[in-house]
Amino acid sequence: KKYVYDFKEGNMSMRGLLGGKGANLAEMTNIGLPVPQGFTITTEACLKYYDEDKKLWDELLKEIDEHLETVEKLQGKKFSDANDPLLFSVRSGAVISMPGMMDTILNLGLNDETVKGLARATNNERFAYDSYRRFIQMFSDVAIGIPKVLFDTKLDNMKENKGVTQDTDLDANDLKKLVEQFKEVYKQEMKEDFPQEPKKQLYKAVEAVFSSWNNNRAIVYRNLNGISHDLGTAVNVQSMVFGNKGETSGTGVAFTRNPATGENKLFGEFLMNAQGEDVVAGIRTPKSIDTLRDINPDCYKQFVDTTHILENHYKDMQDIEFTIEEGRLFFLQTRNGKRTAQAAVNVAVDLVEEGLLTKEEAIMKVEPKQLDQLLHPTFEIEALKKATMLTKGLPASPGAASGKIYFHADEAVEASKKGEEVLLVRQETSPEDIEGMVCSQGILTSRGGMTSHAAVVARGMGKCCVAGCSEVRVDEELKTLRVGDRVFKEGDEISLDGSTGAVYDAKIAKAKAELSGKFGKFMEWVNEVKRLGVYTNADTPRDAKQGRIFGAEGIGLCRTEHMFFSENRIPAVRRMIISRSLEERVKALNELLPMQREDFYGIFKEMREYPVVIRLLDPPLHEFLPKEEKDLQDIANSMGISYEDIRDRVIELEEFNPMLGHRGCRLAVSYPEIARMQARAIIEAAIEIKSEVPNIKPEIMVPLVGHINELKFVKEQMVDEINKVFAEKGEKVEYLIGTMIEVPRAALTADQIATEADFFSFGTNDLTQMTFGFSRDDSSRFLADYNNKKVFDFAPFEQVDQIGVGKLMKMAVEDGRKSNPDLILGICGEHGGDPSSVEFCNALGLTYVSCSPYRVPIARLAAAQAVI
Ligand code: PEP
Ligand code: MG
Repeated sequence: KKYVYDFKEGNMSMRGLLGGKGANLAEMTNIGLPVPQGFTITTEACLKYYDEDKKLWDELLKEIDEHLETVEKLQGKKFSDANDPLLFSVRSGAVISMPGMMDTILNLGLNDETVKGLARATNNERFAYDSYRRFIQMFSDVAIGIPKVLFDTKLDNMKENKGVTQDTDLDANDLKKLVEQFKEVYKQEMKEDFPQEPKKQLYKAVEAVFSSWNNNRAIVYRNLNGISHDLGTAVNVQSMVFGNKGETSGTGVAFTRNPATGENKLFGEFLMNAQGEDVVAGIRTPKSIDTLRDINPDCYKQFVDTTHILENHYKDMQDIEFTIEEGRLFFLQTRNGKRTAQAAVNVAVDLVEEGLLTKEEAIMKVEPKQLDQLLHPTFEIEALKKATMLTKGLPASPGAASGKIYFHADEAVEASKKGEEVLLVRQETSPEDIEGMVCSQGILTSRGGMTSHAAVVARGMGKCCVAGCSEVRVDEELKTLRVGDRVFKEGDEISLDGSTGAVYDAKIAKAKAELSGKFGKFMEWVNEVKRLGVYTNADTPRDAKQGRIFGAEGIGLCRTEHMFFSENRIPAVRRMIISRSLEERVKALNELLPMQREDFYGIFKEMREYPVVIRLLDPPLHEFLPKEEKDLQDIANSMGISYEDIRDRVIELEEFNPMLGHRGCRLAVSYPEIARMQARAIIEAAIEIKSEVPNIKPEIMVPLVGHINELKFVKEQMVDEINKVFAEKGEKVEYLIGTMIEVPRAALTADQIATEADFFSFGTNDLTQMTFGFSRDDSSRFLADYNNKKVFDFAPFEQVDQIGVGKLMKMAVEDGRKSNPDLILGICGEHGGDPSSVEFCNALGLTYVSCSPYRVPIARLAAAQAVI
């Protein structure tokens, strides 16, 4: 079996065996680019190394030696030649690029003898000893694990004693002394001399790469990113070229296009007379790649030509490492460049227009979640560098926000009326805070998870929210926010990044979101390709409009309880809940009816002939019951009953477990008049708009159904009321009645339920809550431990748990369609905007996914990628 490949034996398709770096070095060699030659030891060798009790076996060593000889011939130099030695760099190269593994050892092959040869051959003693001291340091640090700081201290002392600040101010004699000191450090740490035999150095370095595959950082990284532990890493052994041979040599990194904007213009930096890490170390300031034109025009031209060759070959923007050795250009690495969302979209569109990619290929080049960056304001990069991060919470709703902090919704409203930019800070938000949320730039809560009230509502509004920020102590009475020993008072300014969860201690300048022409074009291509419908969750005409701007093709969930949060409605809603008699309740409902009709009319008007799914009231009661004495008194007054009566009634209604309590269709079973009022409002609004939108066909959705009889009961009530409306108006509209599938029993009995339903919509928030038995509101606290301790490597309230929850969904889809072939199927839980869940929904054959407006573009892209 072959475990070692010369660069010229491999190619781009051998990524699995040679790793990303190795495959690309081989490919560059094949297309005739100047690549210092070398060989790659395969990922299979790495796996065998672990099978062989972490030892390099004899045949492998023999194979390495053979390839070493080939490279010696190609380069016309010999490893361990005391006159003019061939030296190597040794680097890891996994299939998927992975921080945390061993990076690079340069100048391998130097020892007390070869260093002299290198000095003679290059006529540059300083260069030779500089290379040697770097090698000792890197080998000791990277391959052996001796702390780097032990060497850095020696280097710093040397400079201090000499009264200089720059490494380049040290001369050959200084460096010779440094080499002796470095070797001494090695001996003290290892109780043996620094290895002088070049082959020993090489074998040791290869082992170091293999064992770095299983170091802690690498394992953590793989767990976090769902990368398999069985892939192994390859090792690349490449002959050295030197950028530190004097003023005609140099080294640098470049992107073929601008990775921040996507602009088709070379972007990069280099340093003359430097090696590897100098460019990124920040000690000397690198020069822009453009200035290479003046320093060495031939080299520059060759560089530019080669970037074109590489882009045409890889059909993507490249990230390139290069070295110039005495005026000769070499390429050390190329890979597809990492980029911002803006650059990703712009490059993808440009590459299609340049004829390099098909639209489908371009669609696959953009990561759906990245699009978020394009839809929200962000902090200015320079301003952000100056800010101090206080702590991190959950990135509940993306965007950047700065403002003065307020701890109560009404105070936030007051301040914003005065023109202040405000942030609402609460332990957790409740429906009463809604207006405070609307007027705020962003929301910060110390409790609650990704599906907490604050998170869901903020996402719906496209407003920045950092939730569950457990290191923050919020005292709503004292109006203080505490993080460690920092205390912020009402009116102090902070900033929030809802995309990362970071909280900063001051105001930070922002850059506005811009949806460029290329973004629009890209999203048109996405629509041409995708099969799934993408709807939005919207409770107001404003949300609906935002959803339409982002390309939503319908409303998959209109949560009517969210319509009741405003100041002028909540008293009537509370009276409706608190009423002890039908008569009282109907009175309250009659007040709400015209408001609801208007709400629905507004939404229909915005959505025109696109489908609109309106859900019956589904309020966890605790969110609506009055708590403050003043509110209780107000209700007592307006209902003409005593304060004590109201208080007793509220106590009576309190539940220990409201999320499993009197909500959803259960409320409609107890009080059918509520469902009747809502059905009437929907149908009356539809009749009203029919002259403008002749095809209007509202869809009414019943929440929290677990048994067919629940649906049957509520449906009968509504149909009866709707028929009354038809009779009164002398006019009819078409409508659909369906149900959410969010209680496990509903999924298990989907065959029965489908006989009564025109559509199903998976409420995966509740379905996840009830399938796992994890509270939506509280589980984020312990789920963090699950992730830290690697019990879970997924977040069940963000991505559909395909194995468990997904099984229920699949069953419901299949059984539901069997008994009702026309059944429309959708999803409206938060998962509807998550790319992996969208892919799953596409595979299940759902009709549409629905998500908050700001996630619509992400879901569209994910839906397109799911079919490519
Ligand atoms: C759900 O449970 O997934 C859902 C969409 O309903 P809500 O979040 O309003 O409970
Ligand atoms: Mg629900």
